[in-house]
Amino acid sequence: MFLRMQPTNVLGASLEELEGHLTGLKEPTYRARQIFAGIYHRRLRSWDEFTDLGKGLRQKLQEQFTIGYLAQQQVFISEDGTRRYLFEVSPGQKIEAVLIPEERRDTFCISTQVGCTVGCLFCVTGKLPMRRNLSAGEMIGQVLALQCDRANLSRQLNVVIMGMGEPLHNYTNVMKTIRIMTDERGIDISSRHITLSTSGVVPGIKRLATEPVIPNLAISLNATTDAVRDHLVPINRKWNIARLLTACREFPLAERRRITFEYVLIEGMNDTPEDAHRLARLLHGFRNKVNLIPLNVDPLLSLQSPTEASILAFQKILIRHQIEARIRRPRGRDISAACGLLAGRS
Ligand code: SAH
Ligand code: SF4
Repeated sequence: MFLRMQPTNVLGASLEELEGHLTGLKEPTYRARQIFAGIYHRRLRSWDEFTDLGKGLRQKLQEQFTIGYLAQQQVFISEDGTRRYLFEVSPGQKIEAVLIPEERRDTFCISTQVGCTVGCLFCVTGKLPMRRNLSAGEMIGQVLALQCDRANLSRQLNVVIMGMGEPLHNYTNVMKTIRIMTDERGIDISSRHITLSTSGVVPGIKRLATEPVIPNLAISLNATTDAVRDHLVPINRKWNIARLLTACREFPLAERRRITFEYVLIEGMNDTPEDAHRLARLLHGFRNKVNLIPLNVDPLLSLQSPTEASILAFQKILIRHQIEARIRRPRGRDISAACGLLAGRS
């Protein structure tokens, strides 16, 4: 019996992997560069569109390889222009990506896992069962799908790895995705415009520091004492605030770069003036900035956001300590696209 092989998906393949495929087809490896540019830069979706390749090669590619985009289920559009994309990556497994148009630039927020094992008290994603890590192809697939929908491709593009999942728990695939995103021959996003956000996986931060291509680092700190952080961000029981901040102080920062600390403000948990003073002391002496994120409330969370007055008071204390602290206003809250609300909901 003749068994037909399933075609291999090339979305998420590195240039070296494509060269390997071309060698397998007994074709010169320079063709791999054309294919790499075709997939990632020109965003071609079928082999017929590769008119710069001969018919014979296209035929061979057609037989063995696919350019498999993600199955896009729904797009939700917010009053503020934010778009939330729902993809089904395996039967019943849904993930999301968000496109946030701003005045001068567009931001993509992409997911790295189906679910998350960290289980932060204030995060809807953390309430989901953890299914699996996403592959590089599934992460690049999110970027390409959103790229196809941008109104103006010449605007600056930022990518934040802040969707569903803990990126440093999917280290290898996330780093491969970053290498493909930053390659000038492909999507060509500068690493300065990519931010990876982590709940504090200290060995992952140390490893990231040794990479040839390093994105901006954001740390979801969210508390100023171990007792509170143990409760809010359970990974703190493994790597506490002191160990986390030591890894941050040792993290190599290119010129003019800073580490961002995200601080979700939750009423009665971490929002007092003492917290603000303690936060300033913890962050003393290295290049950083703070994003204050008033909690996005959800029926699945029994927590509240502080009053506007306490949010402003908290910010004021940080500024008095010479810390750049911005309040991040939610985008796309009406379509459940805001931070911490991504749960694959339709
Ligand atoms: N797992 C990574 C990245 C995804 S979470 C991390 O934790 O950093 C992205 C950001 O959303 C984090 O800074 C997190 O603290 C924040 N967040 C989670 N739930 C939130 C909520 N309900 N309201 C506001 N921000 C939230
Ligand atoms: Fe996971 Fe980040 Fe949500 Fe915590 S905040 S549960 S680490 S996705």
